[in-house]
Amino acid sequence: ATPTALLVGTGRGSQLGILIRGPEVLEQTRRVDTIVLDKTGTLTTGRMRVTAVLPAAGIAEEWVLAAAAGAESGSVHPVAAAIVAAAREARATSGSVEGFQAHDGAGVSAVVDDRAVAVGRADWLTSAWSVEVGDDVRADIVHRENAGMTVVAVAIDGAYAGLIAISDAVRPEAPAAIERLRALGLTPVLLTGDNAGAAARVAEQLGIDDVRSGVTPVGKLEAIRGLQADGHVVAMLGDGVNDAAALAAADLGIAMGSGTDAAMAASDLTIVSGDLSLVPDAIRLARRTLRTII
Ligand code: ADP
Ligand code: MG
Repeated sequence: ATPTALLVGTGRGSQLGILIRGPEVLEQTRRVDTIVLDKTGTLTTGRMRVTAVLPAAGIAEEWVLAAAAGAESGSVHPVAAAIVAAAREARATSGSVEGFQAHDGAGVSAVVDDRAVAVGRADWLTSAWSVEVGDDVRADIVHRENAGMTVVAVAIDGAYAGLIAISDAVRPEAPAAIERLRALGLTPVLLTGDNAGAAARVAEQLGIDDVRSGVTPVGKLEAIRGLQADGHVVAMLGDGVNDAAALAAADLGIAMGSGTDAAMAASDLTIVSGDLSLVPDAIRLARRTLRTII
């Protein structure tokens, strides 16, 4: 039988907007000493904005945006939402979109107006689609990434067609939430599929020392297992399809209610509103609830 206090704890959780899979989850929560945090959509608002479209020589800016938006129209990623919104604002529209595919942690591909379009990390365009990206373009990407941008490249019919730079903001409640997690004895680790520059800018604002960037969805899972192998009890907080395996592997998976269904299905707790201040609240609630039992 479940002790009454645990049920009271889960009831209190749902009042706060924290959905708890079952009373036994509170037990895991108490022992957690490390919290792994996804960046995009978790520590940041995920309401990304396109700040620059840089077409390759001889290609129209509107076409790069239209083609990219067409390919992104089937994606639920914050990068996709930014590109689709920018295209709509610029009235850059495309026609037919067929054969959409999402490549988690890398990008998307589709046939847009009978052209093969891929949008994503430049290194992925090169490795998966044999797209040649020149040294000058690579230097431009690094420069913008070091300024904290997420930069995706666009390929049309196998040729490099341009860059799209996107910015995102740290959630206003994130610094205080991380501080409180630290006060509760949890070591924060930033784990992201995004580039090192964008990761470093966010980590700096939150005072996180352990930063791992350019990590694939499988790499995220391996990072959780690695921490567990070192004897840590690990919570993971994430929002994306790319976080689902890591969330399931963590001792305590926490999903952002503002994120994807895949993340919520893989998690023990869901923060319904996506308000990060509720993460330390959840940890405190679990510890208090258990103290009344033991
Ligand atoms: P995070 O771990 O920060 O949530 P992801 O693993 O989802 O980031 O994505 C890692 C990187 O892969 C992104 O920064 C972007 O460069 C690329 N990417 C992912 N999804 C898309 C998409 N739909 N369109 C373009 N690029 C994408
Ligand atoms: Mg994310």
